[in-house]
Amino acid sequence: MESFEKLLEISTKIHGHVCAGQVIGVRMSMLGLRLIGIDDPKGNDRKKLYVVVEIDRCATDAIQSVTGCSLGKRSMRWKDFGIMAATFVNLETGRAVRITAREESRELAKKYAPAVGNKYQQQLDAYRIMPEEELFKVEEVRVEISECDMPGRPVRRVQCEGCGDWVQDCREVERYGRILCRACAGERYYERL
Ligand SMILES: [Zn+2]
Ligand SMILES: [Zn+2]
Repeated sequence: MESFEKLLEISTKIHGHVCAGQVIGVRMSMLGLRLIGIDDPKGNDRKKLYVVVEIDRCATDAIQSVTGCSLGKRSMRWKDFGIMAATFVNLETGRAVRITAREESRELAKKYAPAVGNKYQQQLDAYRIMPEEELFKVEEVRVEISECDMPGRPVRRVQCEGCGDWVQDCREVERYGRILCRACAGERYYERL
């Protein structure tokens, strides 16, 4: 693994700015990978690693940058829970940890960067040096990943009986005796003009 400073530099470049979320995301990823026994996430270990993120905010970009996992590679899944947490899974051993950023760390930032006036800068500075136990809560977990959510070729492709679009990876639903895409089944997020 590269050093924290190096990983932060890379993630900051990708994300576009340095922020507390980058520091949290980099440190969370380094801890997660260490706990599940992954040393080379973008090289030798890349096929063993799977990450589930629970929020779509700054830290998620850092997690993607450090782990090399992404939506496009299907090695990262986004569960829209709105929680600053991520679960790191070693697909080979089944070992998995869910790491949550502790709410208390916001207050603790004062202790680690007392001289800094600006609250955001204070958090940014403090999160770099705060011990992992104060920054994160770690739970050992077991994650069942469905075959339809794994990297690799799609398990199946079926055509929606409503709109004709093709649906991959088991995302079709059965409604009123018909096989439909999720949009036709009531989850459409757009309106056709
Ligand atoms: Zn940010
Ligand atoms: Zn459809």
